[in-house]
Amino acid sequence: MKPVERAAVQFEKLPGVGIKTAKKLAYALLMFDKRDVDVFCDEIAAAKDALKLCRVCGNFSEGDVCEICAASVAYSADTAPKRDGSIVCVVEHPKDIAAIERGRYYKGVYYVLHGLISPTNLKLPKDLNIKGLLERENLTSIREIILATPPTLDGEATARYVTAELLAANITARITRLAYGMSVGGSFDYADDDTLSYAFKNRNTLE
Ligand SMILES: [Zn+2]
Repeated sequence: MKPVERAAVQFEKLPGVGIKTAKKLAYALLMFDKRDVDVFCDEIAAAKDALKLCRVCGNFSEGDVCEICAASVAYSADTAPKRDGSIVCVVEHPKDIAAIERGRYYKGVYYVLHGLISPTNLKLPKDLNIKGLLERENLTSIREIILATPPTLDGEATARYVTAELLAANITARITRLAYGMSVGGSFDYADDDTLSYAFKNRNTLE
């Protein structure tokens, strides 16, 4: 295999990158000075090494607990926490948190499943990070759990499964699901910020 093709194979692993774009990126990178290619590769490896998952919610985090979870704790008796720890939004990936945070309308905290239940991709409930949600420390004081998995078959199946598990755990929280409207079949990647904010404001109670 030619050197450019070898580099292109790596770029093609990225989401949304086809062989044409992969080759374009490979050519561009290989035009860099050798030193800049090293920086490029080293920085990505260093980012991967530094990446941890928040022990509370599973979001990407630099420390043991992510910034959002940390902001749901009051630092002293007379300061209110910046985030409401009694509302938990359940998402598929950390990137969904980034999409919701862009809108600045949500002030609760999150929980990341790291995947969806999928019969076609042979993903079972045990492959997801559901346990941490059911074993969450403040589970009994949670007022609302928002299921924000995507409006796809897998996303709906996952929302139904998590709801059943939460009900079986006798939680008292209201369980809600985003109202996706027009974006049915898509995911947060394709939903614009207005669609997502609409979906949040018009969320429905399940049960
Ligand atoms: Zn967290």
